[in-house]
Amino acid sequence: MRCPYCRHADSRVVDSREADDGQLIRRRRACLECGKRFTTVEEAVLAVVKRSGVTEPFSRTKIIGGVRKACQGRPVDEDSIALLAQRVEETVRAKGAAEIPSNEVGLAILGPLRDLDEVAYLRFASVYRSFDSLADFEHEIETLRAAARAREAAGAEPAGEQ
Ligand SMILES: [Zn+2]
Repeated sequence: MRCPYCRHADSRVVDSREADDGQLIRRRRACLECGKRFTTVEEAVLAVVKRSGVTEPFSRTKIIGGVRKACQGRPVDEDSIALLAQRVEETVRAKGAAEIPSNEVGLAILGPLRDLDEVAYLRFASVYRSFDSLADFEHEIETLRAAARAREAAGAEPAGEQ
């Protein structure tokens, strides 16, 4: 790891501490040449295994891209999308596995996306679950309606007739 100030190749660690519940380690380093200090972060690479068997590193940016696409034209701001992607990453990392199948990443997106925007959720689910008929959409919409009714019934206030 080269010094970001002078590009010197050697540095020494002056402090190490765990962050994010031990998910990563931050090291404070001092350059042996110019003496300036900088911080490095070390974390385990989480590999996503695609259906083809090919693995690629987990990428929060990729999650954001996919969700943003599903949210096109919807009243969803960038902060909410970034937060959703963070939740997804926490969910998949919490499993503690070094590798995770890509469909589990998709599953981890569906729940929070449904809470965020139901239309975006339907778009995402139709691609992710490869809907190929209107019946698939109808079934998913019926599930959403049932969940909404359940929420209403559980709420303290009567929500009125719809
Ligand atoms: Zn330096």
